[in-house]
Amino acid sequence: MKIIFATANKGKIREAAEILGPGFEIVSPADLGIFDDVEETGSTFRENSLIKAQYVWRRTGLDCFADDSGLEVDALGGAPGIYSARYASPGHDFDANISKLLAELGDTRNRKARFVCVVTLLTGGVPHYFEGSCEGSIALRKSGNGGFGYDPVFVPDAWPDLTMAQISEEQKNSISHRGEALRKMAEWLKDGTR
Ligand code: IMP
Repeated sequence: MKIIFATANKGKIREAAEILGPGFEIVSPADLGIFDDVEETGSTFRENSLIKAQYVWRRTGLDCFADDSGLEVDALGGAPGIYSARYASPGHDFDANISKLLAELGDTRNRKARFVCVVTLLTGGVPHYFEGSCEGSIALRKSGNGGFGYDPVFVPDAWPDLTMAQISEEQKNSISHRGEALRKMAEWLKDGTR
C-alpha cells in the first residue's frame, strides 16, 4: 500500500518505514514536490497532527497520515510538550533544544518524562486517530548517536541503562511512542476496524 507520511523529518520517515514494514510504500511530501513548512497552530498533539495531515490532503487529494509528537517532562509541568521541536528557538535545532532542557532541569531529582505521539490518518479526508507513548526519564548528559531529537538524553524505562540514542533502531521502534501509534494504524488499515 502506497501512503503519504506528511512530514519533512527524515528520522520519522525512516522509523515509519521500518515500523510499517514492506507492505507499505511511504511517500514524503518532498517526493511530490511539496516543501512547505506547515504552521502548527493547534493547542494539542491531536490538533497539530490533524493540521499537518489536512494540509497534504488538500494539496494532493490522496490518503495520508501525519504525526505530532513530543516530550513531556513531569518536573517542567509537561513542557516542552507540543513545543518540543521549537523549544529553544523557532528552528528545529535538536542540540539547542537538549541544552535548554538540561539547563531547565538542572540537578532536579524527579526526571520522569515520556514521549507521546498522535498519528492522524486521513482516508477520503476523514480523520482517524492513533496514540502511543513511551515512559522514561531524562539523563544528566547526552549519550549515543542514534535516533534524533531528544533521544540522546531520554532513558526509556525498558532499557534503564541506555539512552534512546544508544539502542538499535529496531529496539527503539519496538518500544517507542511512534511505534505504538503506527502499529495501531497498520492494524486498522489491515482490518478496517479499531
Ligand atoms: P513535530 O515534528 O512537531 O512532531 O516535532 C516533534 C519533536 O519532538 C521533534 O522535533 C523532537 O524534538 C521531539 N521528538 C518526537 N519524537 C521523538 C523521538 O522519537 N525521539 C526524540 N525526539 C522526538
